[in-house]
Amino acid sequence: MQDKSFRVIVIGAGPAGLYLAKALSAANIDYVVLERGPSTFLERGNHLLIFPHTVRLLHQIGLYDEAKKRSYTLRRKIDMTKSGYVLSDYSIWHQLEEKHGYPTMPIQRYDVLQMLHNSFSNRERVIKTEAKAISIKETDQGVEVELEDGTVEIGSVVVGADGVHGMTRKYIEEAMSKTATEATGTPLLDIPTTSQYYSIYAEGTNTKKIPSRIFYETRDTGRAIQLGADNDMLRIVMYKKLPQQMTGPVSYTEDQMEELAKSFFDMAVAPGITLGEIWPDFHKHTARLVNQNEGFAKHWHTGRVVIISDASVCTSSVNGLGVNCGLHSAAALANQLQKAVSSSAGSPSPEALKGAFARYQHIRAGELKAIYNTAYSTMRQMAWDSWKDWFIDRFLKRWIGPDFFVKKYLHPLVCKGQILSYVPFEDVPAPLPWKWNPDVKVSENKNPEPSVVEQAQ
Ligand SMILES: Cc1cc2nc3c(=O)[nH]c(=O)nc-3n(C[C@H](O)[C@H](O)[C@H](O)COP(=O)(O)OP(=O)(O)OC[C@H]3O[C@@H](n4cnc5c(N)ncnc54)[C@H](O)[C@@H]3O)c2cc1C
Repeated sequence: MQDKSFRVIVIGAGPAGLYLAKALSAANIDYVVLERGPSTFLERGNHLLIFPHTVRLLHQIGLYDEAKKRSYTLRRKIDMTKSGYVLSDYSIWHQLEEKHGYPTMPIQRYDVLQMLHNSFSNRERVIKTEAKAISIKETDQGVEVELEDGTVEIGSVVVGADGVHGMTRKYIEEAMSKTATEATGTPLLDIPTTSQYYSIYAEGTNTKKIPSRIFYETRDTGRAIQLGADNDMLRIVMYKKLPQQMTGPVSYTEDQMEELAKSFFDMAVAPGITLGEIWPDFHKHTARLVNQNEGFAKHWHTGRVVIISDASVCTSSVNGLGVNCGLHSAAALANQLQKAVSSSAGSPSPEALKGAFARYQHIRAGELKAIYNTAYSTMRQMAWDSWKDWFIDRFLKRWIGPDFFVKKYLHPLVCKGQILSYVPFEDVPAPLPWKWNPDVKVSENKNPEPSVVEQAQ
């Protein structure tokens, strides 16, 4: 039975917004997704690493096989200096799959968006493109979101999945500054979003036959490169320290990108091959120069408006965890909303909603604070920002050994992955146990296919 009275307005059809919509659909909660762009996926976008706990989330909503088709298998990671001297060569991806049952999947952002988008049988109705939200109004009864074209969407709550510089976070900041006495719990961190590094990302053809299934990472003072090779394809992200810290959205021209690319030409991308040798092999229509953003919102919600993913916490992409964190936050929020709606016959009180948002923030903020701090220092260590960073990256990490990082940091992080508590699901058997499992058991020993989840709509 679908509850039609409670309605969620999701602003932003990025990976987090679309995943949340799938989760709401499985909870029989009515929703609409608003996307300002002409499409939810364009033939460009950065390369993403989807870690095993996030692959498990995709499996739960029936998208594991589709994700496998659009991805490739990684086995090793090689850390190098700019001359191609190998500092470490380790089987991080293999170790993760062995312990958690799921692989780490390298996948293009547009592939994630396309497979999520295609999985909605009613997408024409529930995902609205060219629908830019410009203002939010909230009352005790509900919310109103005004769109640029003058129309208004009416609902019960707003979830801002509108990215780093989205309007929902700004709305919450302003609203909370007016109600300073009504604290929503002690904020863990309050870091305005800034950029100290910028990046070029691109896809290319592997004409030099760089060995596949390896994630190469090159470090040097003020710059770094990450490259993934998969038979014919190359995916790259280059990092450089900005001349000065920046705030706010910035766009760069193709000429600026080409100029910056030249400053990496002498760096090895794999042993014996420099960036200069393979830069012509990159498809320039897939390449972009973008700022790396870092920030942690102080307030994540008001009474009826809440933010997830990059809108609440953004980290540089060195650890490849941004979108992973976003999907786990979306799952944690969906769990809280499902409980609030199902325990109130579809009409949660304002207090119940606020409690659900506060619990969501409490569940996610601690883990995200630790991830934020690690990503912040890893970015600086990889780009040898100071003598201390250079020493840690060049010697200390090598002395401790990369396996230590996998065991002490990555395995516990993956084990703590969220899951939709109300969707019955059997995951791939694995030696390390998951901390969170669904509350409901699978009947007839079958995982729900997307069509089953969709029938709820
Ligand atoms: C170079 C690079 C490499 C990266 N690599 C990785 C990686 O390996 N692994 C990883 O996990 N993460 C990675 N990330 C981070 C990842 O891309 C982000 O964390 C992720 O895209 C965040 O998803 P999101 O849905 O929160 O926001 P976004 O992807 O930013 O989507 C927000 C959406 O909201 C829409 N929107 C904004 N404002 C409005 C409005 N007012 N009305 C309607 N719609 C609106 C936008 O058009 C957009 O579609 C990388 C990032 C970069 C830049």
